[in-house]
Amino acid sequence: MDLGVLLPSLIPSLQSVYVLVSYFVYLAVAGELLPGKVIRGVVLSDGSQLRYRCNGLFALTLLVAILGISAKLGIVSPLVVADRGLELLSATFIFCVLVTLVLYISGRSSSDKTSSLKPHVSGNLVHDWWFGIQLNPQFLSIDLKFFFVRAGMMGWLLINLSILAKSVQDDSLSQSMILYQIFCALYILDYFVHEEYMTSTWDIIAERLGFMLVFGDLLWIPFTFSIQGWWLLHNKVQLTVPAIVANCFVFLIGYMVFRGANKQKHIFKKNPKTPIWGKPPVVVGGKLLASGYWGIARHCNYLGDLMLALSFSLPCGISSPVPYFYPIYLLILLIWRERRDEVRCAEKYKEIWAEYLRLVPYRILPYVY
Ligand code: NDP
Repeated sequence: MDLGVLLPSLIPSLQSVYVLVSYFVYLAVAGELLPGKVIRGVVLSDGSQLRYRCNGLFALTLLVAILGISAKLGIVSPLVVADRGLELLSATFIFCVLVTLVLYISGRSSSDKTSSLKPHVSGNLVHDWWFGIQLNPQFLSIDLKFFFVRAGMMGWLLINLSILAKSVQDDSLSQSMILYQIFCALYILDYFVHEEYMTSTWDIIAERLGFMLVFGDLLWIPFTFSIQGWWLLHNKVQLTVPAIVANCFVFLIGYMVFRGANKQKHIFKKNPKTPIWGKPPVVVGGKLLASGYWGIARHCNYLGDLMLALSFSLPCGISSPVPYFYPIYLLILLIWRERRDEVRCAEKYKEIWAEYLRLVPYRILPYVY
């Protein structure tokens, strides 16, 4: 790519800053005002529990409706994101740096003793800024961690919809683009239907809010998970019927494993006696589920997610590695994360975890890994 063209398009215009700020303001207001199920988070080390209002599906549907009507009335261009992708990316990056510097400064000066706000300062500025100082910092009573991940997931859908509008406008809408759009839209909508499950994930319960997480949520998720869409705007792919059918199967099986495993764990945490696949659950030490998907591999949910990621890239064919960025990245991330989670669980559950390892020897893919 020509650097003379690339560099100027990375400089955020006032309009891209306006788009970003309006988006965050909408999410903050909608998150506070729209009705939704209030979920108690996991019990933190000091016995406290945070509350999360899971109204993401409502907020997203309303936002898409508002944008759709505004586009019809000519108030907003549906191409605003697709035409300003790089600018929005750099504006988001600058925002991530600024907001995490503020988090670093406010975290350091906090004297709060609760588990969610207690500062963890190593003294190494880069380390503390990167990994964060507080577990669940808030701004105007908004839980920032929950807010940023929501913004990232919705942002991914909005980028995709703008790419879709661009391909319709360019008269280049293809089967591949339709498949990619449908799979991602179903995945994102499903995420918000099950938003409450998010409250017990590793990011929410164990990771402090620093640059790594803010950047991951706000920039990495929406801008890199949509690479396939950007790529399809400029590349033509001819898919055969068997390839389309196989692609749909990878998506459906991936979805079944991903959602099924996450659901089983969530239900088990709420009521450890709930039957799994119609049978009483196999439980290790009263705490760990060792049947259903959790009896096949210790992280079947990662396997399902990897299959889904692959299904988002397969519509692009195999002529280029570029659209496979997301599944390759996810493979590396989930292997790394699974290793860190194992260390955490081994420390937390001790001999119960050792017994679970004996019962379920595979990490992610049975008989392979
Ligand atoms: P998990 O949802 O697998 O949560 C891990 C935690 O679950 C452990 O720390 C432990 O916590 C508990 N646990 C582990 N094994 C058992 C068991 N057998 N029985 C009961 N509880 C158990 O991990 P993540 O939060 O990393 O992932 C959640 C989802 O998000 C996954 O589907 C993953 O694929 C997806 N994800 C997607 C990413 C993306 O970029 N697309 C990035 C990261 C995750 P406890 O101490 O509470 O018992």
